[in-house]
Amino acid sequence: MVARLGGDEFGILLEDVRDAASPIRVIKRVHEKFVLPFQLHEHEVFASMSAGVTMSGEQYEQADPMLRDAYMAMGRAKGQGGGGYVLFDRGMHEEALRRLDIELDLRRALEKGQFEPYYQPIVRAADGRLVGFEALVRWNHPQRGLISPADFIPLAEENGLIVPMGRWVLQAACEQMRRWQEDFPRRPALTVSVNLSARQLLHPDLLAEIRRALRSSGLSPRHLKLEITESAMMEDAPRAIELLETLQRARIKLMLDDFGTGFSSLSYLHRLPIDAIKVDRSFVMHMHERPEDRSFVETIVNLAHTLGREVVCEGVELPEQAEILRQLGVEYGQGYLYSRPVTAAQAEMLIIADNARAAEGRRGKRRASEPVTGSM
Ligand code: C2E
Ligand code: MG
Ligand code: MG
Repeated sequence: MVARLGGDEFGILLEDVRDAASPIRVIKRVHEKFVLPFQLHEHEVFASMSAGVTMSGEQYEQADPMLRDAYMAMGRAKGQGGGGYVLFDRGMHEEALRRLDIELDLRRALEKGQFEPYYQPIVRAADGRLVGFEALVRWNHPQRGLISPADFIPLAEENGLIVPMGRWVLQAACEQMRRWQEDFPRRPALTVSVNLSARQLLHPDLLAEIRRALRSSGLSPRHLKLEITESAMMEDAPRAIELLETLQRARIKLMLDDFGTGFSSLSYLHRLPIDAIKVDRSFVMHMHERPEDRSFVETIVNLAHTLGREVVCEGVELPEQAEILRQLGVEYGQGYLYSRPVTAAQAEMLIIADNARAAEGRRGKRRASEPVTGSM
């Protein structure tokens, strides 16, 4: 029995089915029909079809839950690129429930104060001196513990919560950096980098929010950096470019995040108004053992420098990798070798330690320049 469930969704009910082989055979037959175009008046139109399959059994007493599960499997098939089919399984149901749970909690997380920015140092590659931090949000979930952004940013992006959450992170990071600058007035000013996702970038209030965060915290725009991935920029490139130019005029520095992972169009690179490129960890990770990865990074560095952009390498974990950064003339490094992302209190200890190192270095230099006789 074939039924139209709504819109472009159809249900097929097969009876007397013993195993999944027969619904799959049916799906394949339907797929074959979709290989040919449909004739609509004078136009030929190609359409694709994704299918989800669920088998009846004791777990179902009614049609609705069965349809719901088939629907969920169909969504999965669509997510895999479309044109295929997926068999429903129990795990899918649990996964969906877990997501729903997290989504409900996520909606309340902001008002309950469960987000916390962590800070990861960014250092000058030549001497390891601290130049700033990247703010990386964490979610302190009362039951699940510390949740990493990879597990909730995509969800927040989907349901729009990224906008208020991002606004909060921006504000918190600006205030924190301003406080550090006041507490450590004698060190060269540190900068703070804040990540912006596609949805935030396209949000009409973004500019106003950035201005508000700077004004209310008192942080100078020169000390704020914004990190944007290429894929986020490409969602609406002309608009993104316009926005970035405005930000640049306001003297905010812009970084192209996760460089090398998107569909990097090199021809675009010189047109994007950015100040620095962050080379993705996946290239940095193996550059000490894979010559092709090292060459890739080297090429990016040369290209960036030709275009007058600085380079940050992400995910530096080994001294060998840090050494390559120096050889390639990369300006900055970031990674577990220097420090993991840490709480604001721990980050403060890192500033103090870096200041002590600098003072030590100055004393060392003075000692070295003292007349040799003095110490004999
Ligand atoms: P990202 O901006 O590329 O941040 C770098 C990620 O690499 C961070 O993961 C960091 O902890 C991790 N990392 C840094 N050094 C190393 C290393 O040496 N080894 C390894 N294995 N990993 C390293 P994290 O904190 O889990 O954040 C993941 C992503 O979530 C970020 O990638 C960023 O895209 C996003 N994100 C984090 N906070 C925010 C936020 O406040 N707003 C938005 N829109 N996105 C955020
Ligand atoms: Mg980033
Ligand atoms: Mg990155």
